[in-house]
Amino acid sequence: MDMKSPNPPTYYDIIEEIIMAHRIREIIKTAVANMPLTQPLPAPAKQKGDTKMDYKLIIFDVDGTLTETKSGAQFRQEADDWQWLPNRLTRLRQLKQQGIRLAIATNQGGVAFGYMEMADVLYELDIMCKECGVSPGGLYICYNHPKATIPIYKHDDDRRKPRPGMLRDAMKDFDADPDETLMVGDRPEDFEAAKNAGCAFSWATDFFGDF
Ligand SMILES: [Mg+2]
Repeated sequence: MDMKSPNPPTYYDIIEEIIMAHRIREIIKTAVANMPLTQPLPAPAKQKGDTKMDYKLIIFDVDGTLTETKSGAQFRQEADDWQWLPNRLTRLRQLKQQGIRLAIATNQGGVAFGYMEMADVLYELDIMCKECGVSPGGLYICYNHPKATIPIYKHDDDRRKPRPGMLRDAMKDFDADPDETLMVGDRPEDFEAAKNAGCAFSWATDFFGDF
């Protein structure tokens, strides 16, 4: 068995160790300098829409936003072919109690093609408004359609979404600026109408917390 102690380090061994230690220190210093900041980032600025309370006026689409068809068809087969979607009545009544002005803006082009009568549609929408707390003055309907088969409704109407006419009428009637107004809808034309009117937009599924 070899009882001899290991050779003592030479001068060059010691120099090498010092150089190595220096390199390690430099590596650690660089790594620390490049570490991301641990402080939390500032909270993003509060957006309107974080809370529905921020708006003076909220304008709702109807079909697919507040109601669905009873028949299961995509579009109403008759004027009374509708039922409330879950949570809508409660939510709208809460918003009204909070003092937010509520309006409805709905395209009812089915009338322009003879699928439904204007009087029947108006009757059903009037029932909806009474149930959910929208005042009669807060109901905006566009029956016109540029390709209507019934001549009196054949009109390229500025009120028909995605155009902004109905939203502008509502903002004027309720004395609300675009930045005080939110449109809630379920289709691209609702989104476009809000954009064209300069107001905020929320998808119905987000607004009512559907999942
Ligand atoms: Mg809709």
